[in-house]
Amino acid sequence: MPREYLALLPEYVLMPVPIPFDLNRLRDAALLPIGEKLRAGERLSLQDGVTLFRSPDLLGVGAMADAANRARHGDRVTFASNQHINPTNVCVLRKTCVFCGYARLPKEDGAYRYSLEQVLAESDQADGTITREFHIVGGLDMQAGLEYYQSMFRALKQRHPQVHIKALTAVEIAHIARIEKMSREDVLIALREAGLDTMPGGGAETFSAAVRDVIADKKLGGTDYIDVHRTAHRLGIRSNCTMLYGHVETIEDRLQHLTMLRDLQDETGGFLAYIPLAYHPDGNELGKTLGREGTSTTGFDDLRNLAVGRLFLDNFEHIKSHWIMVSTPVSQIALHFGVNDIEGTVVREKIYHAVGAHTPQGMTLPQLLTLIRGAGKVPAERDSFYRVLREFAPGDTGEVEPAGSPAAAVA
Ligand code: SF4
Repeated sequence: MPREYLALLPEYVLMPVPIPFDLNRLRDAALLPIGEKLRAGERLSLQDGVTLFRSPDLLGVGAMADAANRARHGDRVTFASNQHINPTNVCVLRKTCVFCGYARLPKEDGAYRYSLEQVLAESDQADGTITREFHIVGGLDMQAGLEYYQSMFRALKQRHPQVHIKALTAVEIAHIARIEKMSREDVLIALREAGLDTMPGGGAETFSAAVRDVIADKKLGGTDYIDVHRTAHRLGIRSNCTMLYGHVETIEDRLQHLTMLRDLQDETGGFLAYIPLAYHPDGNELGKTLGREGTSTTGFDDLRNLAVGRLFLDNFEHIKSHWIMVSTPVSQIALHFGVNDIEGTVVREKIYHAVGAHTPQGMTLPQLLTLIRGAGKVPAERDSFYRVLREFAPGDTGEVEPAGSPAAAVA
């Protein structure tokens, strides 16, 4: 019997739909033709995307994104309970990805590679929370090949049979294929058999070759990133996608990137969510070269990237805000700028904190509920395929009553 997510049928591919929207909310005349297209259910052009990024009327852009989001999701905001595991920070591209502060060379101070026992010990650390997903990404480590990840996934599935494994970016898949001298497709098939359920969207950065020449000239290119995801989707492995913004890219680079994601989604329908990622300039070479240390992306740009993602990627159901990168206050406001999903109860985030993120490394369920309700939204926990597991009514704290308590007896 096929696994449910093998059913990537054309009807799963979202098409633009007419969005009710009051054009009087727009203060920038340049946005009016875009508002008209939205109301007619027409797809936005690359030039429309540029206009959205350049318009001084951020609230107008946000209002359109909010309308598009409400048409799909109403007031519901979803999150997942997940745990990040970063099994190795050893990476062959340590010297060439100049925006990265996480990677180390094998003998460098701070380099680590977890043994299987260490991965399992870390997997047990989600104190007091029900972890439904392991989010596993790391460096391109010559000693972490197919067998390393196969045994890890098998052992994790054996120890936590109910937990979904979302692991390995397209860049890591290509790296494993190269060191094992296998096709990327065969690597994906082998990992799926070992327990891989879905793939995260990291490693995309910005697809423009000119940008990659500056920030990551040896990393897997944009066309190859798309190709790995295409292969995964055809195998029934769904994935997320991202864009790193706020470094040296132009507005046109952003639109070229979004167009490539939208085109693949038209073709396969395999992307679950789009997650724009803010560049952090601390703790990496690029930040020093640009003289940008201590100056992260602005709240305006963070909100605009999320809103444009919602409007331009009309065939994506879910737009997610990553509070680890843009802060919890901005993520909360983003719930009115087209965002319907928010990073969940992460346990111990390492990668973005290595480049100076000042956000918490994890969030408890009550904190998440407060954040979502504070925006006037209705929180709901979802699974890794974005199916709602539980909607939280007002006053529901998410606390599980101990067995035998009076409340448990009536539940
Ligand atoms: S961004 Fe990824 S591939 Fe590049 S150095 Fe960092 S861990 Fe390695």
